[in-house]
Amino acid sequence: MHAHALMFVLAGLLLLSGCARHSRSDAARAAREAAGPPNIVFIMADDHAWQAISAYGSNRNVTPHIDRLAAEGVRFDRAFVTNSICAPSRAVILTGLHSHLNGVRTNAETFDGEQLTFPKLLTRAGYSTAMIGKWHLKSRPTGFDHYEVLIGQGPYYNPAMIRDGEQVEHRGYTTEIITELAIDWLREGREPGKPFLMMVQHKAPHRNWMPAAAHLTDFDGVDLPEPATLFDDYADNASPARAQEMTIANHLSPHDLKLAPQRRLDAEQQAVWDAAYAPKNEAYHEAVEAGELTGDDLVRWNYQRYAKDYLRCVQSVDDSVGTLLDELDAMGLAENTIVVYTSDQGWYLGEHGWYDKRWMYEESFRTPLLVRWPGVAEPGGVNTDLVQNLDFAPTFLEAAGVPVPVPMQGRSMVDVIAGPTPADWRSSVYYHYYENPGAHNVARHEGVRTATHKLIRFYDTDEWELYDLVADPDELTNLHGRAGTEALTARLEAELVKLRAAYAVTD
Ligand code: CA
Repeated sequence: MHAHALMFVLAGLLLLSGCARHSRSDAARAAREAAGPPNIVFIMADDHAWQAISAYGSNRNVTPHIDRLAAEGVRFDRAFVTNSICAPSRAVILTGLHSHLNGVRTNAETFDGEQLTFPKLLTRAGYSTAMIGKWHLKSRPTGFDHYEVLIGQGPYYNPAMIRDGEQVEHRGYTTEIITELAIDWLREGREPGKPFLMMVQHKAPHRNWMPAAAHLTDFDGVDLPEPATLFDDYADNASPARAQEMTIANHLSPHDLKLAPQRRLDAEQQAVWDAAYAPKNEAYHEAVEAGELTGDDLVRWNYQRYAKDYLRCVQSVDDSVGTLLDELDAMGLAENTIVVYTSDQGWYLGEHGWYDKRWMYEESFRTPLLVRWPGVAEPGGVNTDLVQNLDFAPTFLEAAGVPVPVPMQGRSMVDVIAGPTPADWRSSVYYHYYENPGAHNVARHEGVRTATHKLIRFYDTDEWELYDLVADPDELTNLHGRAGTEALTARLEAELVKLRAAYAVTD
């Protein structure tokens, strides 16, 4: 049966059942049917911490345009990834399959573009489709009418890109170029009369955090608040937390800290850059030579330098969201367009003394997720259901009225977005990180998280961690093995076994 017909039948059955609880979702479903297949604008940043979005309560920056999506749509407070690293996250999003089944467990693996992906299915269903920005899956994009993507990680300035198979050179700031390419496609690239999918994927704010000219001096003269765990000593953690190589104290390079020359800037860009950094670097070198910048003070300096550059890059991403939302308004498209803002994972903005991601701890496991869907998502809504990037593909397919292929492991979030949440929605999520040996030396681990607790298994060393996320949101007290936690541990271990079986995870 065609999905639209099926939805009508289901809606009819629900109406016949006379269940008042479903009235809101029925109304939303009727509105969706009347409007026809929605357009989808999927905006994804790379490494954007939810702590660096004011709608998520940031005390360090203000993101008015991303916040607009929170005001006009639903903010998800328990959105998680399945594997907190760039390429694997992208493969999960495209396929709706966990890493061990889509073949991209680490950044080193190449995505098999022959696989079924949601953009392919939307193209086949009559959508006009485009992928613009950071792709990062080694193989070329497949299943889009049009693509223009960065090569690998891509640089912050003057990127070469691959446009439908041909290399093109750009001059300027990458976040702004990606935004302009997206606007061009909305205006002239897409096929008129068709619904569309546009994926806009930024490089920013990925390492090494090079800001745009427009934001080079943002936060100058400001002392950013430090996270409570900046000087975490990992005393209560299993051994991997002490073996990692991602501390702000010891693992940022002079290049990261803008104390060494940057690559790729042209003469004009270099002059603007030097005007911003040279005086600050001079003050730094004087302080170091005078012996005034040592120990914790040096860590604090690194944190301020790193976090400010990161947040400057975020401001350009926020500008991009504003430009895209304004364009949708100007084109009269906002009403029947789903706009999603997310990141390929979360990020440590100094929490636990770190930068980077990879861990199942909250900062990198959780990712920002905002969904604006007029007539369906409640404006200003806040949702605490456990959702994952695994769910994006089935969600977009259901929204478009396209049947979700059985092998996809995620579950459509359409009813979660519309509310009320289905009674049988999941009560736990599964996580698995694989990249070791690898950058930053984070041990392989898997785990399960419920609304209130988290169990992590570092299987190479047979170590475990258990956290009470209500009493200990910073995850500083490892309860595993402590008296009184036996029943809880057994329950979570059983849940982990169940999830591994459900997702066909093998050793
Ligand atoms: Ca990333």
